Amino acid sequence: MNDVFYEKDTVDLLGQIVNIPSPSGFTKTIMTFIAKYLTDLGIDYKKTNKGAIIATFTGQNDESHRLLTAHVDTLGAMVKEIKSNGRLRLALVGGFNWNAIEGEYCKIHTASGKKIRGTILMHETSVHVYAKAGEIKRDEKHIEVRLDEKVKTPDEIRNIGINVGDFVSFDPRFEVTDSGFIKSRHLDDKASTALLLQLMKHIKENNVLLPYTTHFYISNNEEIGYGGNSNIPEQVVEYIAVDMGAIGDGQASDEYTVSICAKDSSGPYHYDLTRHLVNLAEQHKIDYKLDIYPYYGSDASAAIRAGYDVKHALFGPGIESSHAYERTHIDSLKATAQLLYVYVTSSMVKED
Ligand SMILES: [Zn+2]
Repeated sequence: MNDVFYEKDTVDLLGQIVNIPSPSGFTKTIMTFIAKYLTDLGIDYKKTNKGAIIATFTGQNDESHRLLTAHVDTLGAMVKEIKSNGRLRLALVGGFNWNAIEGEYCKIHTASGKKIRGTILMHETSVHVYAKAGEIKRDEKHIEVRLDEKVKTPDEIRNIGINVGDFVSFDPRFEVTDSGFIKSRHLDDKASTALLLQLMKHIKENNVLLPYTTHFYISNNEEIGYGGNSNIPEQVVEYIAVDMGAIGDGQASDEYTVSICAKDSSGPYHYDLTRHLVNLAEQHKIDYKLDIYPYYGSDASAAIRAGYDVKHALFGPGIESSHAYERTHIDSLKATAQLLYVYVTSSMVKED
C-alpha cells in the first residue's frame, strides 16, 4: 500500500502550489499551473465557465460515475480602501479572523500585474508609541497593510498602481521539518489538491483501469461556498469532497491520520458511503479518525444544497489551526493517499 504515496513528489508539488497565490476569485495562475500539470501527463480535462478543471478517467463501468473534488482557492483579501496615512485597509475573502493574518507578509496584485510587497499589521503596533497596543481589537479598523514602497499619500499609492479591488495574498511560509511536519498557510485544501494530482498521475502512468468512470474536479471557489456545486455530470452517483479534517478541543481528528467526516454544519454526510470509507480504512489498515466538524461546509454539501442527487462524503488530511497558521504531518498525507486509492478502486456502495 505504500506504493500509492509518493512522499517526495507530493511534498514538492505541495510546496509549489502553496506558493502560487490563489485567493478565491483570483485563481487563474494556479488553474494554468494545474492545466499544464495535466497536459504534461497527457490527461484530458475540461474547464468550466467558473474556471474549475474536471479531468475524467473512463472506467469499466461508464454508466455510474464517481467524482472527487479538492479546491485550490484559498483565503485572502482585497484592498478595501486606500487610507490617508499611506496604508491600505483590507476586506477579507473567505472565513477567518483578523488575528490569523496579523504580522504576515503579503503581496498586492495590481491590475497591471505588478506584485507589491507589504506587511499586515495593527495600526497601533509599536509598543514604544501605543501603550495599549496589546488590548486593541484586531479588526478591519485597526489592521492595515504597510507597503514596502516609499509612499505616504493615497495619490502616491495610486501612482504605483494600487487600487481598491486589488487582490492581496498572504505568504504561505511553507516549511517541512525533519520530524515530518508540513507547516504552511493554505494546506486547506492544497494538501488534498496535491494528493489528487498525484493520484491522477499514478493512475495515468500505471494504466490503472478504474471500476467506474471517475471525475477529478479541481474547484476554485470553495472558500466562498460555490466551488464544486455545478458542472457535475448527470451519471455521478458518489461525490467525495477531499478536504481538511478539523482539529481542536473535542475533535477526534489529528495530524497523523485521515479524517472521515460523519457530519458538519450542513448535516450528516451520506451514511452508507461514509461507512464504506470507514470499512475500506479498516480493511486496509489505514489510520483514520471518524469525526464531526462543528463549523464547516464543503463542496460536497454545496453540491447537495444546489440540488444534485448524489451520495456525498468527505475525508482528508487533518489540518491543525485551520484558516490560520496551518500544519499537518506526512503521516496524514500518506493515510489520505491510501484511502483515496482504495476508494477509487473499490466497488460502489450497494443499494439494499
Ligand atoms: Zn477547504
